[in-house]
Amino acid sequence: MRKFFWLVLFLVMQSSPSVAQKYRRLHRKAMVADSHNDFLSVSIDKNVAFDQDLTGITQSDLNRMKKGGIDLQIFSIWCDQTYTKGKAYAHANREIDSLYSIVSRNSSSMMMVRTAAEMNAFLRSGKLGAMIGVEGGHMIEDDLSKLDSLFSRGARYLTLTWNNSVPWASSAMDETIRKDSIKSAGLNEFGRKVVARMNELGMMVDVSHVGEKTFYDVMQTTTKPVMASHSCAWALNPSFRNLKDEQILAIGKNNGVIQLNFYSGFLDSNFSKNNQAFFARHKAEKDSIMLTNPVEYLAESVLLRKYPAEIREMRPSISLLIDHIDHIVKLIGVDHVGLGSDFDGISSSPKELNDVADMPLVTAELLKRGYSKKSIKKILGENFIRVFRANVN
Ligand SMILES: [Zn+2]
Repeated sequence: MRKFFWLVLFLVMQSSPSVAQKYRRLHRKAMVADSHNDFLSVSIDKNVAFDQDLTGITQSDLNRMKKGGIDLQIFSIWCDQTYTKGKAYAHANREIDSLYSIVSRNSSSMMMVRTAAEMNAFLRSGKLGAMIGVEGGHMIEDDLSKLDSLFSRGARYLTLTWNNSVPWASSAMDETIRKDSIKSAGLNEFGRKVVARMNELGMMVDVSHVGEKTFYDVMQTTTKPVMASHSCAWALNPSFRNLKDEQILAIGKNNGVIQLNFYSGFLDSNFSKNNQAFFARHKAEKDSIMLTNPVEYLAESVLLRKYPAEIREMRPSISLLIDHIDHIVKLIGVDHVGLGSDFDGISSSPKELNDVADMPLVTAELLKRGYSKKSIKKILGENFIRVFRANVN
């Protein structure tokens, strides 16, 4: 009898995997795509390589990405507005060079994804797919031939603006916070040409970071589904570049996709207040650090490292990330949402999501919320791939 009991218990355990086993299996089987990671820029600043163990130094490296079950990573090519004409395009090419060298020296475990054929080969390969996204229209230096060149080097999305506007498109920051810095908002004639040329080439138009006026001009111009590569919902946190419900509805109608950013400041409406309070509390110390080195963000990063308990207290829970997903799903359905973590471009993320290796916890949380396996697979990567396929020639 006793033996029989143990046999039944064994069979029950075999047939009903624990939640932990279930989410890990689902996450491993699913095609997981992350549409925004800033490792390339960070690797230049910190002089580190992707195939090193960078635990404690960056939020991403090759092994942790594998551990996190990420299959397709879109690497962001980025520089700020201090890279003016004559510098920005060259910098973009330098970052593209660095991705190609990473992929070629790890060719047994990585491959580039640039075309529909490469996408098909990648999906059968079991390798980490690498895709290029350029974050900031200033890198084409107002020149369509530079857009063509970036495309021919493999860039498959262009975020029309970063926080800085370009002469042909206004950014969310300039349309809302630095209003005086722009003459007119939206896309101008050249901006519409850029969008049309991207549609023609088969390059996804990324509307993260653009202002609302630019956004609606893009939606009128584009003939293909757009993407917001790393954005959250305004209704849950009215932060300057989160997407309002009308924008979310427009992306649904366009058959596009919104990829959720993991940054605490975009997810949590309390974050910026708490962050300001933290630096106010430590103002004397910050001023003292800045006496020797007057660079504000460096002084702030010293304080962020010095008070880890206070910093941890400010981080939201992963469930808030799922709230943003829920909100978008309620508005436009499960076919238009995905993940664009912004790892290595963000200084704070939900408590449970420290780095790329924690990605499976997103799947666990979606299961807990009652999402079906089919819906979870769409969110993890299938929606992004649909938009990619709709764009590439
Ligand atoms: Zn960004």
